[in-house]
Amino acid sequence: MKLGDIGEFGLIEEIKKTQKKFSEMNFTGIGDDCAIFPSKEGFSYVVTTDMLVEGKHFLIDKINPKDLGYKSLAVSVSDVASMGAKAMFSFLSISINKNTSTQWINDFLTGYNSMNIPLLGGDTCSGEEGNMCINVTVIGECENTNIKYRSSAKVGDIVAVTSPLGASATGLQAILKNLPNYDESIKAHVHPYIFEKESVWLGTKNEVHAMMDISDGVSSDLRHICKQSKCGAVINIDDILTTQETKTLCNNLNINSQELALSGGEDYALLLTISSDAFNKINKEYKALFNSELYSIGTINSDNKITYLSENKVTDINRGFTHF
Ligand code: ADP
Ligand code: MG
Repeated sequence: MKLGDIGEFGLIEEIKKTQKKFSEMNFTGIGDDCAIFPSKEGFSYVVTTDMLVEGKHFLIDKINPKDLGYKSLAVSVSDVASMGAKAMFSFLSISINKNTSTQWINDFLTGYNSMNIPLLGGDTCSGEEGNMCINVTVIGECENTNIKYRSSAKVGDIVAVTSPLGASATGLQAILKNLPNYDESIKAHVHPYIFEKESVWLGTKNEVHAMMDISDGVSSDLRHICKQSKCGAVINIDDILTTQETKTLCNNLNINSQELALSGGEDYALLLTISSDAFNKINKEYKALFNSELYSIGTINSDNKITYLSENKVTDINRGFTHF
């Protein structure tokens, strides 16, 4: 059997099985956006690590070093934030070719440091040209009562997202195909907005149950929430909002915009489930505070699958992104 046969999540399961002896400790380990372990009384550390590989996560001639520096840190800050926690410190490890200019590194660090999260250490290694690898670890902290797990969704909850979806995937297509007039989407791809303050606020709300960030696309990421919360969901794909640029791109390339929105990935918006009684009240407060809204896209149910509806009819939708 090869790794390609078990897939990315199969491999993570295999790794997780080797850690059984630690599972009775009072920690959250492999399986959520972050690991969680106790800090001071009533609080926990929330830790994540993420790798960006040249040719897979970024194309060196299609992203400027400043944006790459920002994005390398931003994707990990997003994981920490999506648990309701505040990112505090970071570590940066990088494998990079010796012919890279010092100006490139200075620009990379300018982008990295623009997030104002202290960099406390890391590791450096020389690498082959075309094989840059960047790994960022972020440590955050959260009051225990505010931590949002993937496993906390409840039957009857509203499934919501914090922005229209598919902008990053639209930007990626525009970059790869050299298309003009997709500036907003390209920005969403190379310099994604991270819902830091929004998620810390949502963390304080008891009626917000499960929460995670959308890195692989709702169709893949919602599966994690459903699997870990032992529930299912119905998603109304007509309620999934996309930007005008996404609609234009999909129209021009003859692809289904809803499908791109659900499976494109890298939106880094939040995917959350909220008690249906509290949804309107929380959305009203959210709008007043953040000048933005929570978009309801469906409901959690007791099925063991996710059903997608369009015009009240069940429809098929592609899987989100996975490695292997
Ligand atoms: P995200 O897309 O939010 O970064 P992943 O899908 O990469 O999350 O990871 C899911 C879970 O699996 C996380 O808890 C992560 O720490 C864990 N994980 C991923 N790869 C490994 C690995 N090589 N060893 C141990 N844990 C891993
Ligand atoms: Mg995540």
